[in-house]
Amino acid sequence: MWHISGETLAPGEKKQLLLKTSAPNYELPATLLCGTTPGKTLVVTAQIHAGEYNGTPAVIQAAREIDPQKLTGNILFFHCVNSNGFWQHHWRTLPEDHFNLNSDYPGAADGTVGQQLAYWFEEEIFPQTDFLLDLHGGSVNEVLSPCLFYPANADVTEESLAAARALDVPYLIASMATSGEYSYAARTYRIPGLLLERGCGAFCQQDWVAGHKRNIFLLLRHLGMYESAEPPLNYAPKIYTHTLYLESDAKGLWYPAVQENEPVKKGQLLGRLEDIFGHPLREFYAEGDGRTLYYTAGLAVAKGDALVAYGLEL
Ligand SMILES: [Zn+2]
Repeated sequence: MWHISGETLAPGEKKQLLLKTSAPNYELPATLLCGTTPGKTLVVTAQIHAGEYNGTPAVIQAAREIDPQKLTGNILFFHCVNSNGFWQHHWRTLPEDHFNLNSDYPGAADGTVGQQLAYWFEEEIFPQTDFLLDLHGGSVNEVLSPCLFYPANADVTEESLAAARALDVPYLIASMATSGEYSYAARTYRIPGLLLERGCGAFCQQDWVAGHKRNIFLLLRHLGMYESAEPPLNYAPKIYTHTLYLESDAKGLWYPAVQENEPVKKGQLLGRLEDIFGHPLREFYAEGDGRTLYYTAGLAVAKGDALVAYGLEL
């Protein structure tokens, strides 16, 4: 039997339900699968950033296809974590309090809705999790090349990176983040995990969905939980241990000079900032040789907004 957050599943059982959380009026659509052989528990989250759609259909399809009779361990699929943001077209944060589940951990038992939701994950989900997979899809104005983040300099770095190498993702980015869902879980709860990025612009394209779904099955195989006909990887992914995240130091109109997945040379123009009348404010140049991973397409940016992320060739 598998007991999680007030639910009980028998071996070989699959349940779809709205999982009650301790956040006020917050229920999460979930599929729970209890395997017939004991093993690891994999937790998959889609849309902690609402509007990053591709993870949701991938989770729906994988949850439908996986036969719990052939499963080792347990899977908890969260179909759409930021549910209110999803239905309200409130891109990214929780509409209730602008809590960002990818940067605002830890939670709090008596905090805002987002803090309470994060706290529920810490209390009810993380202690049961052996691996955490978090599916993203670029932001509404962020264009990206498929990539993933793994927790660097953590107790679970090697385990996370080994899983990353088994997935069909060309660029693996070492992350020092500490306060996102997967990064907080990795550093505080020692749960290996990955954040996958695929797609952009609040679009939902079939090939992006298929990419996320393929990686769910490749991860299940890597973890020894489930076999599938998924063809193995036929290339070696590139690891970026050092990535520069260029941010704007002023408010303005941002005109990028690069695209995603483009080699850059030290000193190359990455983009420029103008005021609303078209007067130049700033020009931004690459600090080293590397490759762009994602960039903000424009146009309005505030001080501190992300502009371009590029991995460095060392
Ligand atoms: Zn995201």
